[in-house]
This record gives sequence, C-alpha cells and structure tokens, in this order.
Amino acid sequence: MHVPVLLEEAVSRLVVDPDGVYVDCTVGAGGHLVCLAGKLSEKATVVNIDKDTQVLEQARKNLSGISQRVILVHGDFRHLRALLKACGINEVNGVLLDLGVSSFQIDDAARGFSYQGEGPLDMRMDTEQQLSAWHLVNQWPEEQLAEIIRDFGEERYARRIAREIAKEREIKPINTTSELVRVINRAVPSQAKRDKHPARRTFQALRIAVNDELGALQEVLPQAVELLVTGGRIAVITFHSLEDRIVKNFFKRESLGCVCPHEQPVCTCNHRPVLKILTKRPVIPSESELADNPRSRSAKLRVAEKL
Ligand code: SAH
Repeated sequence: MHVPVLLEEAVSRLVVDPDGVYVDCTVGAGGHLVCLAGKLSEKATVVNIDKDTQVLEQARKNLSGISQRVILVHGDFRHLRALLKACGINEVNGVLLDLGVSSFQIDDAARGFSYQGEGPLDMRMDTEQQLSAWHLVNQWPEEQLAEIIRDFGEERYARRIAREIAKEREIKPINTTSELVRVINRAVPSQAKRDKHPARRTFQALRIAVNDELGALQEVLPQAVELLVTGGRIAVITFHSLEDRIVKNFFKRESLGCVCPHEQPVCTCNHRPVLKILTKRPVIPSESELADNPRSRSAKLRVAEKL
C-alpha cells in the first residue's frame, strides 16, 4: 500500500478550473489522482504518466470509480510535451509531480530498491531501460561511484564505500541488495551506524543515478510551465534537498524579471516573469501526517501559478 503524501495540500492548491485538463506526471498507485478526480467535474480530463508499467497496472485497478476522462500513459515525464501531444493535448490547467519511488516499488524486494529486502541490484523504475544498479556497482569506475554516492546520497563515507565496492568486485561481482549492504557495512565506521541504516544514503544515490531523477526533473519543469494556461498551476512534492533545490531555484528564476548579472548596467536578457510562487515557504506534512506515515518525513510541496 502506498500512502499518498501531502495529498489534500497538493491537490487543493492545484485545482483552479474543475472542468480543466490536468496531468499527474507520477501517477503511482493513483492516490493523488483519486483525490484530484474528486475535485473535478465530469468534463475534466486527467492524463496520468508513470515510467513503471507494473505501477501503471496498479493504478488502472484503482480507477474504477472515476467518472472523468482518464488517460494512462507509460513514459518518462522528461518527455512531457511529446507525451501530451500524442494524446492530442497542447495545454493544461495543472501539473502535479510527486517525485521519487512509491511504496509499491520499495516493498517489492524483487525490484532491488530496498536495503531491507533481498533482491537483485536493479532499481530501474522503467524495466525497459538497460542501465541498472548492477551496472553502476559492478562496472562504473570507483571514482565516479564515489561521486554519485557523495553527491546524490550526501554520504560522508562515499569514498570509503566506493573503495570497498571496488575491492569486493575484484573478487566477485556484487549481485544482490544484501551483498551490497554487507559491503557498505564493512566500509562505514561503527560509530556512524547508530542512528540510520548505513546503506540508506548509498541506496538513495544509486536509485537517483539509475533513473536519472534529477535530470528528468530539470527537463520537465520548463515544459510544464510552457504547457500551462494562464492561471494554471504546477505543484511539486520532493523528498530530498537535491530535488527541492532544483524546484526552488527554477520557481525563483521564473518568477523574476531581469536575470542579468548584478554588475551589468543595462538588461540584455529580456527575461520576463512567467510564474507567481504560491508557497513562499514549502508546505510540509502536519504532525498527524508525520505520525501516520513516516515516508512523509522529508516531503516538501512547492506550488506556482503561470502568469
Ligand atoms: N502520487 C502517487 C505516488 C507517486 S510515487 C500516489 O499517491 O499513489 C512516484 C511515482 O513516480 C513512481 O510510481 C515512479 O515510477 C514514478 N516516476 C518517477 N520518476 C518518473 C519519471 N521520470 N517519469 C515517469 N514516472 C516517474
């Protein structure tokens, strides 16, 4: 079961026109979609994208009670414009992104996302993709592995972990999640293992890299804004600081007029504000949501409106 995060907070801010066209770029099990549909009229359309076919099957099962026109699309939201165009849609009233993985994916040990289960080193959201966590762990240069673990996992023992992985794979390939956890355990000093699971950050880093999560986010944001009608809204729920920073900086830049360097006396950029930020500070889960759903712990919601 996937418990939707910041559900009412996101959906209530997203809907401006109940008859409009909405896109849920990360439909998952359809938690946000069902809530969104509840706020729309029967004239509305909701396009739902996910790059994971297994997840889409799950979403399909949860759609039975929905009376709006619902379109399910298998694809990567980094191609948002093209995916919508293929559905005959060129403008939308709202775009929702609820980033990261769903519990449905994490809890299925066979997908290899979890350091708690025993599974293959996979972590691909789109199983049609070639690159998996196995390739990263067994084939990427130690240096590059250390960079990924440091940058995407914000892991202070990245270098040691990459070293230990490189040593292990010289003897034999690292094939499963539990084998990787054992290697990470050897690399991380015992005093650092007290609070959180020592493999947590490395697994996050590998997942982000395998699925190019930050690249996809960077690509979708400008397309989403371009597709929005005037007054249309974009709502993004992030789960770690790297994602949140991308959204925050993008919203900020697009809400400004001139973005020329300060020292430049005359504006040459001709940049015009296209967004109004509706969440000066990100919306975070309430105490009760945090108590009910630990996965919401690091969630942040930012919403902006097209000018
Ligand atoms: N809002 C959903 C949960 C979404 S979890 C609910 O309440 O049920 C995030 C989902 O986004 C996952 O199913 C994942 O497969 C999908 N996803 C992540 N990155 C994606 C991308 N670049 N393109 C399409 N789907 C993506």
